[in-house]
Amino acid sequence: MEENLKEKLFNKKEIGWKDADAQEKEAIYSFCNDYMNFLNRSKIEREAVATSREIAESKGFRDLSTFDTLKPGDKVYFVNREKSMYLAIIGSEKLENGLQIVGSHIDSPRLDLKPNPLYEDNGFAYFKTHYYGGIKKYQWTTIPLSIHGVIVKTNGEKINVNIGEDENDPIFVITDLLPHLAQEQMEKKLKNGIDGEALNLLLGSIPYGDGKESDAIKLNILNILNQKYDITEKDLLSSELEVVPAFKARSLGFDGSMVAAYGQDDKICAYTSFAAMMSLENVKTTAVCILSDKEEIGSMGNTGMESHMFDYFISELLNKTGENRPNLLDKVFCFSRMLSADVDAGFDPLYSSVSDSTNAAFLGRGVGLNKYTGARGKSGASDANAEFVAWVRNVLEKNNIKYQISELGKVDVGGGGTIAYILANKGVDVIDCGVPVLSMHAPYEVTCKYDVYMAYKAYEAFFNM
Ligand code: MN
Ligand code: MN
Repeated sequence: MEENLKEKLFNKKEIGWKDADAQEKEAIYSFCNDYMNFLNRSKIEREAVATSREIAESKGFRDLSTFDTLKPGDKVYFVNREKSMYLAIIGSEKLENGLQIVGSHIDSPRLDLKPNPLYEDNGFAYFKTHYYGGIKKYQWTTIPLSIHGVIVKTNGEKINVNIGEDENDPIFVITDLLPHLAQEQMEKKLKNGIDGEALNLLLGSIPYGDGKESDAIKLNILNILNQKYDITEKDLLSSELEVVPAFKARSLGFDGSMVAAYGQDDKICAYTSFAAMMSLENVKTTAVCILSDKEEIGSMGNTGMESHMFDYFISELLNKTGENRPNLLDKVFCFSRMLSADVDAGFDPLYSSVSDSTNAAFLGRGVGLNKYTGARGKSGASDANAEFVAWVRNVLEKNNIKYQISELGKVDVGGGGTIAYILANKGVDVIDCGVPVLSMHAPYEVTCKYDVYMAYKAYEAFFNM
């Protein structure tokens, strides 16, 4: 009797694998293989856009500019400066009744090259970097690193760079002090152990020619770059080169239950929401998928979610479906719903003291929702209305999708945010909904394959409501 009452009344928090049958496990592993392939092809935002565009076109999506008019069932995408992307499937309902949006980001913490990166010092050539996003600097030394991005010449010619990923490519590294001489460094606070100005990438050590000229090693590197890419030092002024871990995404654990990879924040939600979009045919409510840039540094700028580019995209949808009239965009947003698809801090038994275990997200327990984010008294939070949380719960429960609702860390320990508030400010009903991660923002982040699949199922179910 007592047992049944518990069954009826408790919110059971269980590991999802227990209920997964062989067929579902197979689906999970297969989906995650595709996810890991996506990660390996998409370490930076430009690559994530290129990969997504290629897949979307193969699934019948076309560039917005190729449509004069739009009708229900049309699949359309818009690429913003090669760094962010919006996709939509026009629903049978009018857009003015609202959209169903899933929004993620495809930028990840990394090291960007400085505008004048190249220098020589005592027999070595280096690139100077300026870190991007919230990193623990010590994690970026003594690991294999690759360089990705573009160099644009004054005539507009664009050179794509991707070096350090192929088995035959060289890799790069940032050195660290040997323990024997690190007495002073080891006494420092962890955050000061590695200086931001010391995150310089080791590039080479052979001098050009007989080495008698000054800066002969730098010259040799420039000569190699000139032969490989037809550029001079000045062309680096107009480049966006990003240094990222050269690790491949791998299955983790004897049971292969987890994914270890760079950049899972937030390509895990980008990929799962994008894959959900790709699985759709006809929808009632217009489905919109956002792959945004610059989330890790505050969503500012013309490729970040704070820019008006998204409003422009939706306005163009209204124009091309023939619905538009003055101020309609405001109404569209006020009647829209959104899942802000971003990662959550997973409970880590090694660091359990920062989490309230009753309100933490656990790996393997399904997709994680945060009713609110923020820090210290919910400051800066986007807090989803109970009515909307209930609506989302209904979607998930009706579709047998395992989920957990949590908050990021203990009260007053820290906090964080996503793009949720930006859309909420426009009037959209938004809740954070993503995948719990261990070692978030580290060069190698850990997630659970079960949760990856549940996120995919959640986004798919949401789009289909
Ligand atoms: Mn994120
Ligand atoms: Mn992040």
